[in-house]
Amino acid sequence: MSKTHSMLILPGDGIGPEAMIEVKKIVTWLEENKDIKFDLSEDHVGGRAYDEYGTSLADHTLEKAKEVDAVMFGAVGGPKWDGVAYDKRPEAGLLKLRKELNLFANLRPAMCFEPLVDASSLKPELVSGLDIMIVRELTGGVYFGEPRGITELSNGQRRGVNTQVYETYEIHRVAHVAFDLARKRNGHVTSVEKANVMESGLLWREEVNVIAKDYPDVKLEHMYADNCAMQLVRTPKQFDVILTDNLFGDMLSDIAAMLTGSLGMLPSASLGEAGKGALYEPVHGSAPDIAGKGIANPIATILSFAMALRYTFDEPLAADLIENAVNEVLANNIRTADINQPGMTLVSTGEMGSHIVAAMEKLSN
Ligand code: NAD
Repeated sequence: MSKTHSMLILPGDGIGPEAMIEVKKIVTWLEENKDIKFDLSEDHVGGRAYDEYGTSLADHTLEKAKEVDAVMFGAVGGPKWDGVAYDKRPEAGLLKLRKELNLFANLRPAMCFEPLVDASSLKPELVSGLDIMIVRELTGGVYFGEPRGITELSNGQRRGVNTQVYETYEIHRVAHVAFDLARKRNGHVTSVEKANVMESGLLWREEVNVIAKDYPDVKLEHMYADNCAMQLVRTPKQFDVILTDNLFGDMLSDIAAMLTGSLGMLPSASLGEAGKGALYEPVHGSAPDIAGKGIANPIATILSFAMALRYTFDEPLAADLIENAVNEVLANNIRTADINQPGMTLVSTGEMGSHIVAAMEKLSN
């Protein structure tokens, strides 16, 4: 008998719930047609949770998130909660969830769907067929290192300090994620730091070399972060998996994302220790400017669910089916407003979801 996958759905605010309805259509289709079983639960997070529970992440929601195989997250935030205290703000709920689940590896694919090749700011031949995975360390480095702060100096100047710090275990565990992924892809890891000017970068390089010994079948290359930024816009297809720290990953994943066009197309995953925490979410926010209008692109959220199928639920065929269905729909010139072009068929959020389900049906026959 096939395993039942437990998943907590947290639609959140703004366009989060609108996009999540389309994920639920796909879940239902998979249950009815592919005999993949889900044990779904759903709760509030972010501003909606603040309204309901007085906090952006209730204790019972966090407990549930720790119990399930994966959390499917929409988006949080909006002007309604701008005045709420910092620790109760919608975004605080997401940060707490990431911290409590110890999600140390952030996976951001930059994949160019062929029908959207013209939406990239780069020449079509540079991005056609592009498929990069950026693995960013998410819980350490300069965003969390101590000491940190701003101090007043006796000479009237002020001094701002942040500390870039990594320990062996932090590098090892995220490196394992990158090498394991490379094995399932094209067998190539590019590890990125600034070992030429930073001791933490040198440690990163040396410790990645240690882990590489366990993966003789994976090719490892080292690259300085500034060069990597340049190479990403020069010849992005040279990369397979990019492994990097929190700070450089923040920049490089945004650069790579823009190679492929719209925010509405970009999924992500954040993973903890194997089997202990996984959160899947679109890269975009709650888009209050278009929320409630039925025009948001649900594809980023749908592709995040496809990542959950691939990386947590071990259902790679279902993940392939969703990605192929998205490609098919785009190839049929069906577009939401954010990716629309002259001559295409403009559809709503709900219509886009239904087209993707119909394409899954068609591709399965
Ligand atoms: P945003 O990503 O919500 O929106 C940026 C722009 O992209 C907007 O014009 C929006 O309409 C458009 N857009 C985003 N997703 C889209 C989609 N799926 N389809 C069509 N268009 C889309 O970023 P923002 O405007 O800077 O932030 C809005 C709110 O979201 C803020 O409260 C912010 O704090 C929050 N936010 C949350 C997350 C998260 O939940 N992970 C991430 C980023 C921002």
